[in-house]
Amino acid sequence: MKTLIMATNNEHKLREIRQMLEGEYEVRGLADIGCREEIPETSETLEGNALQKARYVAEHYGMDCFADDTGLEVETLDGAPGVYTARFGSMNGYGDSHDSDANIHCLVDKLAGKENRRARFRTVIAFVHGGKESLFEGIVEGNILEKKTGTEGFGYDPIFAPVETGMSFAEMGPEEKNRISHRGRAIRKLVSFLQTDG
Ligand code: IMP
Repeated sequence: MKTLIMATNNEHKLREIRQMLEGEYEVRGLADIGCREEIPETSETLEGNALQKARYVAEHYGMDCFADDTGLEVETLDGAPGVYTARFGSMNGYGDSHDSDANIHCLVDKLAGKENRRARFRTVIAFVHGGKESLFEGIVEGNILEKKTGTEGFGYDPIFAPVETGMSFAEMGPEEKNRISHRGRAIRKLVSFLQTDG
């Protein structure tokens, strides 16, 4: 079986991709290859950050590798927080970086009283393979809710409702979410690339 490296330590993401590539590829995370360093993510774009992480592993470990980066783009905030989605709360004085409650609180406050609540999640996957680089994008359109709804998932899930369903991501099971989510869509593009060109 061929092996692929995903530049992440996020078990949730690894489980997702392993399910989709079962029987075809063995997917290893950073811990599996002994990579314990903090990989820099200093770009101003999702594409740049995903490439930075995948290139780092390809260069330092000599292996084909893919990496993802996700942003929430809110229409009335001109596409913010975008590449700063994980740090949105802390950048605005709401708690620590990567604190989901702080991020949600911050966004709900920013949109208070606004009628336009349109937003989209966008994931970019960068795949560095044999000296070549390929990018795959997945988008889900939705609306930001006024308060948290549901208990599943992670991050902004309780306040993001995809237009397809009307309910929040946090009210859906993992399979239902993966079927329409930004990351699910980007991963399926990578999988179909691997099956035809990989
Ligand atoms: P990352 O690029 O996957 O690390 O995600 C960047 C930010 O987007 C973090 O704040 C995550 O919590 C948030 N995020 C990414 N994917 C999702 C999702 O599927 N649902 C809710 N929040 C997400």
